Amino acid sequence: MLYNERMKKFGISKQKIKNCVTKPHFQVFVASFSICLLLFFIVSKQSGSNIPPRIQDAFDPIISTQNPVNKNIKPISSVNGIFSSMFSNTKEHILPVKNGDSIASILSNLGVPYNEILDVSKSINPIFKLSDLRPDNDKIVVKVKPLGEENGKAKVQLSYLEIVKSPIYRIISTRTDDGFKTVESKSNINSELVRGEGVIEKGASLTQIAIQNGIPYNVIDKFYEIFSFDVDFERDIYPGDKFQIMYEQLYSDNGDYLGSGNVLFASLYLNSRRTEFRLFRYENDKGVVGYYDEDGKGASKTLKKTPINGARISSKYGNRKHPILGYSKAHKGVDFAAPTGTPIPAAGSGKVVYRGWINGYGNYIKVRHNGTYSTAYAHLSRFKPEVKVGSQVKQGQIIGYVGSTGLSTGPHLHYEIIKDGIQVNPLSVKLPSIQNLSGEEVKNFASVRDKINIQFTVLDKNFSQFANLIDIKSIDADMLK
Ligand SMILES: [Zn+2]
Repeated sequence: MLYNERMKKFGISKQKIKNCVTKPHFQVFVASFSICLLLFFIVSKQSGSNIPPRIQDAFDPIISTQNPVNKNIKPISSVNGIFSSMFSNTKEHILPVKNGDSIASILSNLGVPYNEILDVSKSINPIFKLSDLRPDNDKIVVKVKPLGEENGKAKVQLSYLEIVKSPIYRIISTRTDDGFKTVESKSNINSELVRGEGVIEKGASLTQIAIQNGIPYNVIDKFYEIFSFDVDFERDIYPGDKFQIMYEQLYSDNGDYLGSGNVLFASLYLNSRRTEFRLFRYENDKGVVGYYDEDGKGASKTLKKTPINGARISSKYGNRKHPILGYSKAHKGVDFAAPTGTPIPAAGSGKVVYRGWINGYGNYIKVRHNGTYSTAYAHLSRFKPEVKVGSQVKQGQIIGYVGSTGLSTGPHLHYEIIKDGIQVNPLSVKLPSIQNLSGEEVKNFASVRDKINIQFTVLDKNFSQFANLIDIKSIDADMLK
Protein backbone atom coordinates (compact mmCIF):
# COMPACT_ATOMS: atom_id res chain seq x y z
CA MET A 1 0.00 0.00 0.00
CA LEU A 2 1.12 3.50 -0.78
CA TYR A 3 0.42 4.50 2.73
CA ASN A 4 3.00 2.10 4.16
CA GLU A 5 5.55 3.27 1.65
CA ARG A 6 5.12 6.77 2.94
CA MET A 7 5.56 5.64 6.49
CA LYS A 8 8.71 3.73 5.62
CA LYS A 9 10.06 6.92 4.17
CA PHE A 10 9.91 8.42 7.62
CA GLY A 11 11.42 5.33 9.18
CA ILE A 12 8.25 4.38 10.97
CA SER A 13 6.28 1.41 9.94
CA LYS A 14 2.58 1.51 10.60
CA GLN A 15 3.05 -1.68 12.59
CA LYS A 16 5.69 -0.13 14.83
CA ILE A 17 3.43 2.57 16.11
CA LYS A 18 0.45 0.30 16.37
CA ASN A 19 2.61 -1.98 18.50
CA CYS A 20 3.13 0.81 20.95
CA VAL A 21 -0.53 0.74 21.73
CA THR A 22 -1.92 -2.68 21.03
CA LYS A 23 0.67 -5.46 21.14
CA PRO A 24 -0.48 -7.77 23.91
CA HIS A 25 2.92 -9.21 24.83
CA PHE A 26 3.83 -7.42 28.02
CA GLN A 27 7.59 -7.01 27.53
CA VAL A 28 7.20 -5.72 24.03
CA PHE A 29 4.48 -3.45 25.32
CA VAL A 30 6.68 -1.97 28.04
CA ALA A 31 9.62 -1.47 25.70
CA SER A 32 7.49 0.10 23.00
CA PHE A 33 5.63 2.22 25.49
CA SER A 34 8.90 3.66 26.79
CA ILE A 35 9.93 4.57 23.26
CA CYS A 36 6.60 6.23 22.69
CA LEU A 37 6.87 8.08 25.99
CA LEU A 38 10.35 9.27 25.09
CA LEU A 39 9.16 10.48 21.73
CA PHE A 40 6.24 12.32 23.28
CA PHE A 41 8.60 13.85 25.79
CA ILE A 42 10.95 15.19 23.12
CA VAL A 43 8.07 16.47 21.12
CA SER A 44 6.20 18.11 23.99
CA LYS A 45 9.43 19.79 25.11
CA GLN A 46 9.75 21.27 21.67
CA SER A 47 6.20 22.47 21.56
CA GLY A 48 6.88 24.67 24.58
CA SER A 49 8.76 27.07 22.35
CA ASN A 50 5.77 27.68 20.12
CA ILE A 51 4.78 31.26 19.67
CA PRO A 52 1.08 31.89 20.11
CA PRO A 53 -0.80 32.81 16.96
CA ARG A 54 -1.03 36.44 15.93
CA ILE A 55 -3.87 37.77 13.87
CA GLN A 56 -1.64 38.35 10.85
CA ASP A 57 -0.64 34.69 11.02
CA ALA A 58 -4.26 33.81 10.99
CA PHE A 59 -3.92 31.32 8.19
CA ASP A 60 -0.90 29.55 9.60
CA PRO A 61 -1.92 26.12 10.67
CA ILE A 62 -2.24 25.61 14.38
CA ILE A 63 -2.79 21.97 14.74
CA SER A 64 -4.75 20.10 17.26
CA THR A 65 -6.48 17.05 16.02
CA GLN A 66 -9.00 16.70 18.78
CA ASN A 67 -9.74 20.12 20.18
CA PRO A 68 -9.90 22.81 17.58
CA VAL A 69 -10.42 25.55 20.12
CA ASN A 70 -7.69 27.10 22.19
CA LYS A 71 -9.08 26.48 25.64
CA ASN A 72 -6.92 29.10 27.30
CA ILE A 73 -8.91 31.90 25.78
CA LYS A 74 -12.08 32.75 27.58
CA PRO A 75 -15.01 32.43 25.24
CA ILE A 76 -17.22 35.46 24.94
CA SER A 77 -20.26 33.32 25.66
CA SER A 78 -19.01 32.60 29.18
CA VAL A 79 -18.61 36.33 29.74
CA ASN A 80 -22.20 36.65 28.60
CA GLY A 81 -23.08 33.95 31.05
CA ILE A 82 -21.97 36.16 33.94
CA PHE A 83 -24.29 38.90 32.82
CA SER A 84 -27.17 36.53 32.33
CA SER A 85 -26.82 35.42 35.93
CA MET A 86 -26.42 39.00 37.16
CA PHE A 87 -29.62 39.92 35.38
CA SER A 88 -31.32 36.62 35.81
CA ASN A 89 -34.57 37.89 34.34
CA THR A 90 -32.98 39.46 31.25
CA LYS A 91 -34.27 38.57 27.85
CA GLU A 92 -31.89 38.04 24.95
CA HIS A 93 -32.70 39.02 21.37
CA ILE A 94 -30.49 38.09 18.42
CA LEU A 95 -31.46 40.21 15.43
CA PRO A 96 -30.05 40.32 11.90
CA VAL A 97 -29.52 43.88 10.66
CA LYS A 98 -31.89 44.58 7.78
CA ASN A 99 -31.96 47.38 5.26
CA GLY A 100 -33.09 50.60 6.93
CA ASP A 101 -32.28 49.36 10.46
CA SER A 102 -30.30 51.48 12.88
CA ILE A 103 -29.22 50.75 16.45
CA ALA A 104 -31.77 53.34 17.56
CA SER A 105 -34.64 51.76 15.63
CA ILE A 106 -33.76 48.25 16.78
CA LEU A 107 -33.56 49.28 20.44
CA SER A 108 -36.66 51.43 20.19
CA ASN A 109 -38.64 48.50 18.75
CA LEU A 110 -37.64 46.44 21.79
CA GLY A 111 -38.99 49.15 24.10
CA VAL A 112 -35.64 50.60 25.23
CA PRO A 113 -36.24 54.20 26.43
CA TYR A 114 -34.83 57.06 24.39
CA ASN A 115 -32.34 58.26 27.06
CA GLU A 116 -30.77 54.78 27.22
CA ILE A 117 -30.48 54.60 23.43
CA LEU A 118 -28.68 57.94 23.57
CA ASP A 119 -26.35 56.78 26.38
CA VAL A 120 -25.37 53.53 24.73
CA SER A 121 -24.86 55.27 21.37
CA LYS A 122 -22.52 57.80 23.01
CA SER A 123 -20.55 54.98 24.55
CA ILE A 124 -20.22 53.07 21.26
CA ASN A 125 -19.43 56.11 19.12
CA PRO A 126 -15.67 56.50 19.86
CA ILE A 127 -15.10 52.82 19.00
CA PHE A 128 -17.55 52.20 16.20
CA LYS A 129 -19.42 54.56 13.91
CA LEU A 130 -23.06 53.59 14.17
CA SER A 131 -23.58 54.55 10.53
CA ASP A 132 -21.19 51.70 9.60
CA LEU A 133 -23.83 49.13 10.49
CA ARG A 134 -24.04 46.79 7.49
CA PRO A 135 -27.42 45.32 6.53
CA ASP A 136 -27.46 41.61 5.60
CA ASN A 137 -24.12 41.13 7.35
CA ASP A 138 -24.15 42.42 10.91
CA LYS A 139 -26.08 40.93 13.79
CA ILE A 140 -27.22 42.61 16.98
CA VAL A 141 -27.44 40.82 20.30
CA VAL A 142 -29.52 42.75 22.83
CA LYS A 143 -30.25 41.85 26.44
CA VAL A 144 -33.03 43.73 28.17
CA LYS A 145 -34.56 43.57 31.62
CA PRO A 146 -38.36 43.85 31.63
CA LEU A 147 -39.59 46.58 33.97
CA GLY A 148 -43.29 45.94 33.64
CA GLU A 149 -45.72 48.04 31.70
CA GLU A 150 -46.24 51.77 31.49
CA ASN A 151 -49.31 53.21 29.77
CA GLY A 152 -49.97 49.79 28.21
CA LYS A 153 -46.47 49.66 26.71
CA ALA A 154 -43.76 47.22 27.86
CA LYS A 155 -40.89 49.03 29.56
CA VAL A 156 -37.41 47.55 29.52
CA GLN A 157 -33.94 48.42 30.68
CA LEU A 158 -31.03 47.81 28.32
CA SER A 159 -28.35 45.70 29.98
CA TYR A 160 -26.23 44.50 27.07
CA LEU A 161 -25.70 45.33 23.41
CA GLU A 162 -23.40 43.48 21.05
CA ILE A 163 -22.78 44.37 17.42
CA VAL A 164 -21.51 41.27 15.64
CA LYS A 165 -19.60 42.45 12.56
CA SER A 166 -18.15 39.00 11.89
CA PRO A 167 -17.43 35.88 13.91
CA ILE A 168 -14.07 37.42 14.80
CA TYR A 169 -15.03 41.04 15.36
CA ARG A 170 -17.71 42.41 17.65
CA ILE A 171 -18.42 45.54 19.64
CA ILE A 172 -19.80 44.94 23.11
CA SER A 173 -21.57 47.48 25.33
CA THR A 174 -22.50 46.58 28.89
CA ARG A 175 -24.33 48.51 31.55
CA THR A 176 -22.20 49.33 34.58
CA ASP A 177 -22.78 51.51 37.64
CA ASP A 178 -21.11 54.37 35.70
CA GLY A 179 -23.21 54.00 32.57
CA PHE A 180 -22.47 51.96 29.48
CA LYS A 181 -18.94 50.68 28.80
CA THR A 182 -18.05 49.63 25.28
CA VAL A 183 -15.18 47.42 24.21
CA GLU A 184 -14.08 45.82 20.96
CA SER A 185 -13.68 42.08 20.85
CA LYS A 186 -11.29 40.81 18.22
CA SER A 187 -10.65 37.14 17.89
CA ASN A 188 -7.74 35.34 16.33
CA ILE A 189 -8.41 32.98 13.50
CA ASN A 190 -7.24 29.59 14.67
CA SER A 191 -6.84 26.73 12.32
CA GLU A 192 -6.69 23.02 12.72
CA LEU A 193 -5.57 20.58 10.09
CA VAL A 194 -8.07 18.03 8.90
CA ARG A 195 -7.43 14.94 6.86
CA GLY A 196 -10.06 13.77 4.43
CA GLU A 197 -10.09 10.84 2.03
CA GLY A 198 -12.28 8.56 0.04
CA VAL A 199 -12.57 5.82 -2.54
CA ILE A 200 -14.73 6.28 -5.62
CA GLU A 201 -17.65 3.86 -5.67
CA LYS A 202 -19.69 2.68 -8.59
CA GLY A 203 -22.41 5.19 -9.40
CA ALA A 204 -21.00 7.93 -7.17
CA SER A 205 -18.91 10.89 -8.23
CA LEU A 206 -15.82 12.14 -6.46
CA THR A 207 -17.86 15.12 -5.24
CA GLN A 208 -20.54 12.86 -3.75
CA ILE A 209 -18.00 10.67 -1.94
CA ALA A 210 -16.11 13.72 -0.66
CA ILE A 211 -19.31 15.31 0.70
CA GLN A 212 -20.32 12.01 2.32
CA ASN A 213 -16.93 12.03 4.03
CA GLY A 214 -17.46 15.52 5.40
CA ILE A 215 -15.18 17.47 3.09
CA PRO A 216 -16.50 21.03 2.54
CA TYR A 217 -17.55 22.20 -0.93
CA ASN A 218 -14.87 24.82 -1.39
CA VAL A 219 -12.18 22.31 -0.47
CA ILE A 220 -13.56 19.97 -3.13
CA ASP A 221 -13.53 22.85 -5.63
CA LYS A 222 -9.91 23.54 -4.83
CA PHE A 223 -9.13 19.84 -5.29
CA TYR A 224 -10.60 19.92 -8.80
CA GLU A 225 -8.83 23.14 -9.61
CA ILE A 226 -5.32 22.01 -8.65
CA PHE A 227 -5.62 18.69 -10.50
CA SER A 228 -7.34 20.13 -13.57
CA PHE A 229 -4.10 20.24 -15.57
CA ASP A 230 -3.28 16.57 -15.01
CA VAL A 231 -6.65 14.93 -14.73
CA ASP A 232 -9.80 15.08 -16.77
CA PHE A 233 -12.39 14.52 -14.06
CA GLU A 234 -15.14 13.77 -16.57
CA ARG A 235 -13.30 10.81 -18.05
CA ASP A 236 -10.35 9.75 -15.90
CA ILE A 237 -12.14 8.79 -12.67
CA TYR A 238 -13.28 5.19 -12.09
CA PRO A 239 -14.58 3.19 -9.13
CA GLY A 240 -11.68 2.20 -6.90
CA ASP A 241 -9.73 5.41 -7.51
CA LYS A 242 -8.66 7.05 -4.27
CA PHE A 243 -8.24 10.59 -3.10
CA GLN A 244 -6.72 12.15 -0.03
CA ILE A 245 -6.68 15.72 1.11
CA MET A 246 -5.41 17.78 4.03
CA TYR A 247 -6.92 21.20 4.65
CA GLU A 248 -7.39 23.78 7.36
CA GLN A 249 -10.56 24.44 9.29
CA LEU A 250 -10.75 27.88 10.82
CA TYR A 251 -12.20 28.78 14.20
CA SER A 252 -12.52 31.93 16.21
CA ASP A 253 -11.13 31.99 19.75
CA ASN A 254 -14.48 31.01 21.19
CA GLY A 255 -14.85 28.10 18.85
CA ASP A 256 -17.13 29.46 16.13
CA TYR A 257 -16.45 27.65 12.90
CA LEU A 258 -15.36 30.20 10.30
CA GLY A 259 -15.00 27.97 7.27
CA SER A 260 -12.25 26.07 5.60
CA GLY A 261 -8.81 27.51 5.01
CA ASN A 262 -6.02 26.40 2.73
CA VAL A 263 -5.70 23.04 1.09
CA LEU A 264 -2.16 21.95 2.01
CA PHE A 265 -2.03 18.57 0.37
CA ALA A 266 -4.03 16.57 -2.13
CA SER A 267 -3.46 13.22 -3.73
CA LEU A 268 -5.33 11.26 -6.34
CA TYR A 269 -4.64 7.66 -7.23
CA LEU A 270 -5.91 6.59 -10.65
CA ASN A 271 -6.11 2.82 -11.10
CA SER A 272 -6.43 3.16 -14.86
CA ARG A 273 -3.11 4.96 -15.12
CA ARG A 274 -1.49 3.24 -12.12
CA THR A 275 -0.47 6.73 -11.11
CA GLU A 276 -0.71 8.69 -7.91
CA PHE A 277 -0.70 12.46 -8.27
CA ARG A 278 0.48 14.18 -5.11
CA LEU A 279 0.39 17.95 -4.81
CA PHE A 280 1.73 20.14 -2.02
CA ARG A 281 0.90 23.76 -1.32
CA TYR A 282 3.92 26.01 -1.25
CA GLU A 283 4.11 29.76 -0.80
CA ASN A 284 7.37 31.38 -1.80
CA ASP A 285 8.95 34.35 0.00
CA LYS A 286 7.17 36.75 -2.35
CA GLY A 287 3.86 35.33 -1.19
CA VAL A 288 3.10 33.53 -4.45
CA VAL A 289 1.17 30.33 -3.77
CA GLY A 290 1.36 27.30 -6.01
CA TYR A 291 0.88 23.54 -5.92
CA TYR A 292 3.84 21.32 -6.68
CA ASP A 293 4.50 17.64 -7.04
CA GLU A 294 7.02 15.77 -4.88
CA ASP A 295 9.89 16.96 -7.11
CA GLY A 296 8.83 20.61 -7.03
CA LYS A 297 7.27 20.62 -10.47
CA GLY A 298 4.40 23.09 -10.68
CA ALA A 299 0.90 21.66 -11.03
CA SER A 300 -0.25 24.47 -13.31
CA LYS A 301 0.54 23.69 -16.90
CA THR A 302 0.91 26.04 -19.81
CA LEU A 303 -2.23 24.61 -21.39
CA LYS A 304 -5.44 22.91 -20.35
CA LYS A 305 -6.15 19.61 -22.04
CA THR A 306 -9.86 20.23 -22.01
CA PRO A 307 -10.69 23.91 -22.23
CA ILE A 308 -14.42 23.45 -21.46
CA ASN A 309 -14.99 21.75 -18.12
CA GLY A 310 -17.60 19.03 -18.12
CA ALA A 311 -18.14 18.91 -21.89
CA ARG A 312 -18.57 15.49 -23.49
CA ILE A 313 -15.96 14.40 -26.03
CA SER A 314 -17.85 13.71 -29.23
CA SER A 315 -14.85 12.84 -31.35
CA LYS A 316 -11.28 11.94 -30.44
CA TYR A 317 -7.99 12.70 -32.10
CA GLY A 318 -6.96 10.23 -34.82
CA ASN A 319 -8.37 8.55 -37.91
CA ARG A 320 -12.09 8.54 -38.39
CA LYS A 321 -14.63 8.58 -41.15
CA HIS A 322 -15.51 12.23 -41.62
CA PRO A 323 -19.22 12.72 -40.80
CA ILE A 324 -19.77 15.10 -43.75
CA LEU A 325 -17.04 14.33 -46.28
CA GLY A 326 -17.70 10.59 -45.91
CA TYR A 327 -14.12 9.41 -46.33
CA SER A 328 -11.48 8.52 -43.76
CA LYS A 329 -9.43 11.50 -42.67
CA ALA A 330 -7.16 12.12 -39.72
CA HIS A 331 -8.97 14.12 -37.05
CA LYS A 332 -6.32 16.55 -35.83
CA GLY A 333 -8.10 17.67 -32.68
CA VAL A 334 -10.68 16.73 -30.08
CA ASP A 335 -14.35 17.61 -30.37
CA PHE A 336 -16.26 18.66 -27.30
CA ALA A 337 -20.04 18.63 -27.64
CA ALA A 338 -21.55 21.67 -25.96
CA PRO A 339 -24.61 23.85 -26.59
CA THR A 340 -24.30 26.80 -28.99
CA GLY A 341 -23.16 29.86 -27.09
CA THR A 342 -21.15 28.00 -24.43
CA PRO A 343 -18.20 30.28 -23.58
CA ILE A 344 -14.79 29.02 -24.67
CA PRO A 345 -11.91 29.91 -22.34
CA ALA A 346 -8.34 30.15 -23.68
CA ALA A 347 -6.50 26.95 -22.73
CA GLY A 348 -3.44 28.98 -21.84
CA SER A 349 -2.11 32.50 -21.77
CA GLY A 350 -0.80 33.87 -25.04
CA LYS A 351 -1.37 36.08 -28.08
CA VAL A 352 -4.19 35.74 -30.60
CA VAL A 353 -2.56 35.13 -33.99
CA TYR A 354 -5.61 34.32 -36.14
CA ARG A 355 -9.27 35.19 -35.86
CA GLY A 356 -11.57 34.65 -38.81
CA TRP A 357 -13.14 32.20 -41.22
CA ILE A 358 -11.31 29.16 -42.53
CA ASN A 359 -13.03 26.72 -44.89
CA GLY A 360 -14.02 23.59 -43.00
CA TYR A 361 -13.18 25.12 -39.63
CA GLY A 362 -15.75 27.90 -39.88
CA ASN A 363 -15.10 30.63 -37.32
CA TYR A 364 -11.60 29.86 -36.10
CA ILE A 365 -9.30 31.41 -33.52
CA LYS A 366 -5.68 30.54 -32.86
CA VAL A 367 -3.65 31.49 -29.79
CA ARG A 368 0.17 31.30 -29.71
CA HIS A 369 1.35 30.48 -26.18
CA ASN A 370 5.13 30.37 -26.58
CA GLY A 371 7.77 29.33 -29.11
CA THR A 372 6.49 25.76 -29.06
CA TYR A 373 2.76 25.67 -28.40
CA SER A 374 -0.35 27.15 -29.97
CA THR A 375 -3.99 26.17 -29.57
CA ALA A 376 -6.83 26.48 -32.07
CA TYR A 377 -10.60 26.60 -31.59
CA ALA A 378 -13.01 25.97 -34.47
CA HIS A 379 -16.71 26.03 -35.49
CA LEU A 380 -17.37 29.00 -33.18
CA SER A 381 -20.77 30.71 -33.41
CA ARG A 382 -19.02 34.01 -32.70
CA PHE A 383 -15.87 35.53 -31.26
CA LYS A 384 -15.59 37.55 -28.08
CA PRO A 385 -15.63 41.04 -29.67
CA GLU A 386 -12.70 42.51 -27.72
CA VAL A 387 -10.44 39.54 -28.48
CA LYS A 388 -8.74 40.39 -31.77
CA VAL A 389 -5.59 39.40 -33.65
CA GLY A 390 -2.72 40.67 -31.50
CA SER A 391 -4.71 40.59 -28.22
CA GLN A 392 -2.95 39.12 -25.21
CA VAL A 393 -5.23 36.62 -23.48
CA LYS A 394 -4.92 34.98 -20.08
CA GLN A 395 -5.53 31.32 -19.34
CA GLY A 396 -9.26 30.95 -18.73
CA GLN A 397 -10.21 34.21 -20.46
CA ILE A 398 -13.25 33.82 -22.75
CA ILE A 399 -12.25 34.13 -26.42
CA GLY A 400 -15.38 32.95 -28.22
CA TYR A 401 -18.54 30.84 -28.13
CA VAL A 402 -19.39 27.31 -29.23
CA GLY A 403 -21.20 27.00 -32.54
CA SER A 404 -21.53 24.82 -35.62
CA THR A 405 -19.97 26.93 -38.37
CA GLY A 406 -17.95 25.35 -41.22
CA LEU A 407 -18.08 21.60 -41.85
CA SER A 408 -19.93 20.60 -38.72
CA THR A 409 -22.95 18.42 -37.96
CA GLY A 410 -23.89 20.08 -34.67
CA PRO A 411 -22.68 22.53 -32.05
CA HIS A 412 -19.28 21.55 -30.68
CA LEU A 413 -15.82 22.91 -30.06
CA HIS A 414 -13.05 21.49 -32.22
CA TYR A 415 -9.91 21.98 -30.15
CA GLU A 416 -6.32 21.54 -31.34
CA ILE A 417 -2.99 21.71 -29.57
CA ILE A 418 -0.26 22.58 -32.05
CA LYS A 419 3.32 21.74 -31.05
CA ASP A 420 6.07 23.15 -33.28
CA GLY A 421 3.52 23.68 -36.04
CA ILE A 422 2.03 20.17 -35.92
CA GLN A 423 -1.24 19.14 -34.29
CA VAL A 424 -0.76 16.70 -31.40
CA ASN A 425 -3.28 14.71 -29.36
CA PRO A 426 -4.48 17.12 -26.65
CA LEU A 427 -5.48 14.28 -24.34
CA SER A 428 -2.12 12.51 -24.30
CA VAL A 429 0.43 15.27 -24.89
CA LYS A 430 2.73 15.95 -21.94
CA LEU A 431 2.57 19.66 -21.27
CA PRO A 432 5.24 21.78 -19.63
CA SER A 433 4.67 23.14 -16.13
CA ILE A 434 4.64 26.78 -15.31
CA GLN A 435 5.91 28.00 -11.94
CA ASN A 436 8.72 25.48 -11.55
CA LEU A 437 10.95 26.04 -8.53
CA SER A 438 14.59 26.83 -8.79
CA GLY A 439 17.66 27.40 -6.60
CA GLU A 440 16.99 28.13 -2.94
CA GLU A 441 13.25 27.59 -3.46
CA VAL A 442 13.78 23.90 -4.18
CA LYS A 443 15.26 23.48 -0.70
CA ASN A 444 12.55 25.53 0.98
CA PHE A 445 9.89 23.56 -0.84
CA ALA A 446 11.46 20.25 0.21
CA SER A 447 11.19 21.13 3.89
CA VAL A 448 7.58 22.29 3.49
CA ARG A 449 6.76 19.07 1.63
CA ASP A 450 8.40 16.87 4.30
CA LYS A 451 6.50 18.65 7.04
CA ILE A 452 3.20 18.24 5.18
CA ASN A 453 3.94 14.54 4.69
CA ILE A 454 4.48 14.09 8.42
CA GLN A 455 1.42 16.12 9.34
CA PHE A 456 -0.71 14.09 6.99
CA THR A 457 0.66 10.81 8.32
CA VAL A 458 0.13 11.74 11.94
CA LEU A 459 -3.46 12.81 11.22
CA ASP A 460 -4.30 9.27 10.14
CA LYS A 461 -7.10 7.91 12.27
CA ASN A 462 -4.99 4.88 13.15
CA PHE A 463 -2.64 7.22 14.94
CA SER A 464 -5.21 9.33 16.71
CA GLN A 465 -3.90 8.47 20.19
CA PHE A 466 -0.45 9.38 19.02
CA ALA A 467 -1.55 12.54 17.23
CA ASN A 468 -3.45 13.89 20.23
CA LEU A 469 -0.32 13.97 22.28
CA ILE A 470 1.96 15.76 19.93
CA ASP A 471 2.09 19.18 18.49
CA ILE A 472 2.69 18.35 14.86
CA LYS A 473 3.90 21.85 14.13
CA SER A 474 6.95 21.25 16.29
CA ILE A 475 8.06 18.02 14.67
CA ASP A 476 11.26 18.32 12.83
CA ALA A 477 11.32 16.22 9.69
CA ASP A 478 14.78 14.94 10.62
CA MET A 479 13.45 13.53 13.87
CA LEU A 480 11.46 10.90 12.09
CA LYS A 481 13.98 9.97 9.45
ZN1 LIG B 1 -13.12 18.23 -34.78
